[in-house]
Amino acid sequence: MISNFINLIQNNIGYSEYGNFGDLLYIILFIILIALLVIILEFVIIGLFLNKYNKLLYGEGSILAFIPLAQTYLLGKLAFNKLVGIIMVAISLLPYLSIPKNDYILSVGEFSGAARFFILIYAIIKYNRIKKGIISKEEAAFQSDQYSFITKSETNVQTQSNKTRFCRNCGAQLIPESSFCQNCGQSIEK
Ligand SMILES: [Zn+2]
Repeated sequence: MISNFINLIQNNIGYSEYGNFGDLLYIILFIILIALLVIILEFVIIGLFLNKYNKLLYGEGSILAFIPLAQTYLLGKLAFNKLVGIIMVAISLLPYLSIPKNDYILSVGEFSGAARFFILIYAIIKYNRIKKGIISKEEAAFQSDQYSFITKSETNVQTQSNKTRFCRNCGAQLIPESSFCQNCGQSIEK
């Protein structure tokens, strides 16, 4: 009778302990699942946005938008330029290096996340400005393809002076800055 009673208590305690542990496990699994879903959802939403952005600038989407790390590169490239894209990939890899944490106000991971967040906000603002025509598609595409921060107007001066011209009379290629054709002598209007 007493041993039965003890058995009953032991069984119940054992059961309730197992039950509690089971509940805790489910809660942890649930939190991990939610966190994973948020990460995947964020990745997909940013991917869809960057794919659309790429299509706006270049007339076609980009597979880079849906590849981890490549997405980060594309974000920096579309918001600014290729150089920023490469820097952003480098920053996002920093948390995986063992850098001592306590000396900084922000941890490297937090800094990386914050940088990504603000560049994403900037990219959304720029995308809307391109859509509204405040920034031309060509200008934005040109900026994105650069490895530096030279603006189009600066390089336009260079390309215009280097632009090859042809004689209107005989079609011969003209020497830059010349006032007459070297081939037929036709005077050239500047
Ligand atoms: Zn000529």
